[in-house]
Amino acid sequence: MGLLEGKRALIMGVANERSIAYGIAKAFHREGAELAFTYANEKLKKRVEEVASEFGSNLTFECDVSKDEHIKALREWLEKNWGSLDIIVHSIAYAPKEEFKGGVIDTSREGFKIAMDISVYSLIAITRELLPLMEGRNGSIITLSYYGAEKVVPHYNVMGIAKAALECTVRYLAYDIAKYGHRINAISAGPVKTLAAYSITGFHLLMEHTTKVNPFGRAITIEDVGDTAVFLCSDWARAITGEVIHVDNGYHIMGVFGREEEIK
Ligand code: NAD
Repeated sequence: MGLLEGKRALIMGVANERSIAYGIAKAFHREGAELAFTYANEKLKKRVEEVASEFGSNLTFECDVSKDEHIKALREWLEKNWGSLDIIVHSIAYAPKEEFKGGVIDTSREGFKIAMDISVYSLIAITRELLPLMEGRNGSIITLSYYGAEKVVPHYNVMGIAKAALECTVRYLAYDIAKYGHRINAISAGPVKTLAAYSITGFHLLMEHTTKVNPFGRAITIEDVGDTAVFLCSDWARAITGEVIHVDNGYHIMGVFGREEEIK
């Protein structure tokens, strides 16, 4: 029996088969979860419908998380189709491309607002709106963060600030929803070549460096993230909430610039 048998999971943030959310959906499907998907806009509709059908689902819904009316409509749609919900995967972030050039010092007011709204506030709005659907089901929510929340990663800029806020939001929400029996955690994933990642100036160098110097000397895959997400959303993780779990092959534990063979 799969670890997520009998659970219904909403997957938010698939853009294509390289998305971290795709890796999570694949692992959830393998573990027996029923899946529904959202997509940000009409352009992604067809691709997300194809992904949904690959995982035995015909449930897809447009939800631009910067729009309250979309989030409300999502709740109504889920109520109609499922009536209840066990898992929410929030795998969404955005900042205008120009914010990844230069430094944090160049951040525009508008870019800051957009990054915080889509990458952080959306988690609060979605959690609040969908909470009634999780009543009595010991629900689990996960979101995706990155090491740039903790340390300076050149060009990650306002997204590093947003991820720090996101991790803090996870702790506050964990407190708020614990009284209903629900949990929320973040996975801090190592770099993965996805659409979102390509907006970051010099991403390939960051990827190369991180891969070379982590203790295992290998890159993170969306399957690595998917399997951790399964654990976090399963009943085995029932006492874990408000946590940020690094799925980065141990990159974050390194105090010097690389493994022995790299610094010789
Ligand atoms: P991706 O581009 O595949 O996914 C990002 C998703 O965010 C897309 O599906 C996009 O449609 C969605 N999105 C953007 N604006 C939206 C809006 N207004 N409404 C609804 N959806 C919106 O890239 P990804 O790397 O899979 O990103 C998923 C998450 O993982 C993000 O939070 C990202 O910051 C995080 N993350 C990525 C990496 C990496 O290296 N790729 C590492 C750590 C964390």
